[in-house]
Amino acid sequence: MGSPTVAHLSMEQSAPFYRPVGREVEIFEKAHAHHLPLLLKGPTGTGKSRFVEYMAVRMGLPLITVVCHEETSAVDLLGRYLVRGNETVWMDGPLTRAVRQGAILYIDEIAEARPDTVVVLHSLTDHRRCLFLDRHDEVLEAPESFMLIASFNPGYQGAWKELKPSTRQRFVSLAFQYPEARLEAEIVANETSLPTKSCRQLVALANKVRNLHHLGLTESVSTRLLVDTARLIHAGLPARLACEVGIVEPLTDDRDVANSLKDIVALYF
Ligand code: ADP
Repeated sequence: MGSPTVAHLSMEQSAPFYRPVGREVEIFEKAHAHHLPLLLKGPTGTGKSRFVEYMAVRMGLPLITVVCHEETSAVDLLGRYLVRGNETVWMDGPLTRAVRQGAILYIDEIAEARPDTVVVLHSLTDHRRCLFLDRHDEVLEAPESFMLIASFNPGYQGAWKELKPSTRQRFVSLAFQYPEARLEAEIVANETSLPTKSCRQLVALANKVRNLHHLGLTESVSTRLLVDTARLIHAGLPARLACEVGIVEPLTDDRDVANSLKDIVALYF
């Protein structure tokens, strides 16, 4: 059994900082109003989870997040019978809880879950909007406020797991990319309080690395890595060292590639 990681965000929490980069807020609201499930596609660290947290608070809805991995089973999502003393009691899984509460359900890394697990979501993604709990002999109808969102990382240079077309086509899809340079520097500055000039340098470095396809990196410099690096610089670590531990080493274990990246860092800091 591989219980997924589940996180809850209550309605009382204040909205996290999120800087829209396109018309994603409007698309989210319209998808919600029309009961359309939403797929957020894009590399890791491009703000997908932050966007969902922001939207949940903005819309005043509870958020339940499930992070999938290859062991995640349908039972983990739906629920199971547990023995408590002399009794057997039914325990809702996060998917069932989200439907009962009319919450926003965020299935992070949906392609990691086993295909038979993803299938249990299908009846929630079409006109039926219901959940079949065969083991509990119950059919749950999703309330108006319920929304299903999933994230998917198509992989830098096509390196990751695919999502079945039969699943993909059930979702309205929004592509997340690295934001345009000025915006990304603004995000990094807002997150870390590092002066804008240094944030711009970090973003310029990131864009240089992002264009070096011949290095064969499986993932490139994400906004998350830039935020982490900026935090280290703001905390007083020399910029080059911060870039080494915050950008270079997380991206590669190959010493030659790491050395090439360090040379590039030296051009900017
Ligand atoms: P993902 O879910 O795509 O892997 P996250 O949502 O965890 O990425 O984003 C990683 C970090 O990048 C966030 O914690 C935040 O600091 C920053 N970030 C990325 N995009 C934005 C944005 N548009 N507005 C605010 N912060 C952002």
